[in-house]
Amino acid sequence: PDRHEMLTIQGLVSSYGRIQVLHEVDLTIRRGEIVSLVGANGAGKSTLLMALSGLQPVDAGRVTYEGEDLRRWPSHRRVAQGIIQVPEGRQVFRDMTVHDNLLMGAYTRGRGQEVEQDLERVYGRFPILRQKQRQLAGMLSGGQQQMLVMGRALMARPRLLLLDEPSMGLAPLVVEEIFDIIRELNQEGITIFLVEQNASQALAASHRGYVLEAGRVVLEGRGEDLLENEQVRAAYLGI
Ligand code: ATP
Repeated sequence: PDRHEMLTIQGLVSSYGRIQVLHEVDLTIRRGEIVSLVGANGAGKSTLLMALSGLQPVDAGRVTYEGEDLRRWPSHRRVAQGIIQVPEGRQVFRDMTVHDNLLMGAYTRGRGQEVEQDLERVYGRFPILRQKQRQLAGMLSGGQQQMLVMGRALMARPRLLLLDEPSMGLAPLVVEEIFDIIRELNQEGITIFLVEQNASQALAASHRGYVLEAGRVVLEGRGEDLLENEQVRAAYLGI
């Protein structure tokens, strides 16, 4: 990765009503990195992603994306600028075909030749989706649905891909496959912010990681260093 700071979060505070969930979070993502955010259920990981997508209000703090004040941008502008979120829970359009699900990822772009080329590229990356393109998305396995939501995100041409719990509930071999795909997408130039409860896999795949506890960043470092960290091993790796 180069040293260029793509996303800088400083002192971010976010709440649901009167309950403050994120407490002055500081976090940086550089161009070309895979950065993971690990932490227990309820730590506030999804809330942070939603704040980056503009779907969750920010009460205080600065968020800078490519040198610009992100807080001023509505969600659609963030998407247009390449900030693409894949929410947790594999939210496919179950009653639509695989093909139409993918097209939904590019619906703001119309149906020009570029969209056709991107579709080809997604099918090239996920041959199983090509094979099942006429099937309803609701009929796919969990791993295939995860590939579909990631493929749909690729149709929006992400520069910064926000992945929320991509491995949740998948069988170990499928989890491996999903993490391989994440590494490949990164090697193709997409910067990745990965939110995971699966700390060991996430940190192993990441250049750097952050540990969130009760809405506060309590540790940060290189992925491999965090994997060795006693506190992380005790709390998140069950070692
Ligand atoms: P998970 O892995 O379960 O998604 P998380 O680390 O992503 O966990 P969040 O979903 O961000 O955690 O939730 C952080 C806190 O905010 C939790 O205490 C949760 O109960 C609370 N919370 C989340 N969504 C809402 C909401 N819509 N209204 C009120 N409180 C919420």
